[in-house]
Amino acid sequence: MYRIGNGYDVHSLAPGFPLWICGLKIEHEKGCVAHSDGDTPIHALCDAMLGALALGDIGNHFPDTSDEFKGIDSKILLKEVCRLVALHGYRLTNADITVALQRPKLAPRIIEMRTILADIIGCTADRISVKATTTERLGFVGREEGIEAYAVVLLEKI
Ligand code: MG
Repeated sequence: MYRIGNGYDVHSLAPGFPLWICGLKIEHEKGCVAHSDGDTPIHALCDAMLGALALGDIGNHFPDTSDEFKGIDSKILLKEVCRLVALHGYRLTNADITVALQRPKLAPRIIEMRTILADIIGCTADRISVKATTTERLGFVGREEGIEAYAVVLLEKI
């Protein structure tokens, strides 16, 4: 009846790249180095949804060696994962996402992020939790070398 999944993703940060987080472009002096647009929490969310149904990971479905996915908007990847989930007879019950980033502060944009993800998934925003944390300047996130995201999802049979 229910399936649980978790996802994890990391991207390095460098000047001259856009910073996409949960479908929002965040103004910042650094962005994600990636084959796609580097939307780290969306990648973690996709992996959690695929993982819940043991369907592999986004690397299997959207290879980073393929020109088709170069610079792709991760919202398109999420939409495709949702289509796969529905095809297998499941829908999202809820998702809980944590983004670890030292700077900038994401708190003012969290509601927008939840709304964007909910619109893509086709659910209400109260089913999508997005939380942001720093790592107290510890590790690669603390040194502003990268961004990290974790996602947990519950899927229910339609
Ligand atoms: Mg990724």
